[in-house]
Amino acid sequence: MSREDGLPPLREVIAEHQLSAKKNLGQNFLLDLNLTRKIARSAGPLEGHTIVEIGPGPGGLTRGLLMEGAKKVIAVERDERVLPALEQISAAYPGHLEIISGDALEVNWPEIVDGPTKIVANLPYNIATALLIGWLTSDQWPPWFSSLTLMFQKEVAERIVAESGNKTFGRLSVLSQWRADAEKLFDVPRQAFTPPPKVTSSIVHITPHQKPQFDCKMDALERVTKAAFGQRRKMLRASLKGILPNPQQVLENAGIDPTLRAEQLQVKDFCALAKLL
Ligand code: SAM
Repeated sequence: MSREDGLPPLREVIAEHQLSAKKNLGQNFLLDLNLTRKIARSAGPLEGHTIVEIGPGPGGLTRGLLMEGAKKVIAVERDERVLPALEQISAAYPGHLEIISGDALEVNWPEIVDGPTKIVANLPYNIATALLIGWLTSDQWPPWFSSLTLMFQKEVAERIVAESGNKTFGRLSVLSQWRADAEKLFDVPRQAFTPPPKVTSSIVHITPHQKPQFDCKMDALERVTKAAFGQRRKMLRASLKGILPNPQQVLENAGIDPTLRAEQLQVKDFCALAKLL
């Protein structure tokens, strides 16, 4: 028995249900409930909130979230082998855990949540950025979630929070920051996972702005960032040729030096250019 919630230690859960980790599902499990509780706390207050968790696996983070007082956890998992282990958690927290068996990339989120909702997950690394971009490009803003607290590979986390002028500043940074605040909270060493992944991971916390600071259309912003960062070593007057008939003039009209490169622009400059498309 685990002292914390009366459920068996995660190592026993994995052995009992024979949950050998599958690489193609990005399975790297967290077995230390002190760590998963720390991740849960880093999402801010959980009381009164529904938490959407992607990929609960054997349930380490799910248990952390419930122990830290989440009103309800909705956990979406693709691997059917883990469902009996999740059912045991559900029985220990009646009415507080809803398990959805399926692919997180195919869920219509606004349909399944109700009331204040946060997303907290140790994401499968192979679909982590696809999920993040899906959430960040929501038509409805402010979106259906009030924050995202997510584990990424450290290098991806650094791209999400990178500031203008930094080598890692790119499309993911602009899409993450144009109507949200993104912050890297702490690193999680490889050894904290079973099996250990190849690289260090990091927890990122993203809070959507209630009222977007910069006003532009998402599809236009995606086109501008794609063109500008697609040829990031070129000056903007060259890299934007494919999407603007006269980039030199447009850049000057927007008050942007046409000889700058993509990584030297601020997020607000990308929005100004998107508006001019
Ligand atoms: N939350 C657990 C933990 O922290 O120990 C497991 C995290 S593990 C990095 C990622 C989890 O996502 C695995 O349980 C995996 O089966 C699940 N997963 C992978 N692809 C998925 C998908 N498309 N939809 C839902 N879950 C998925």
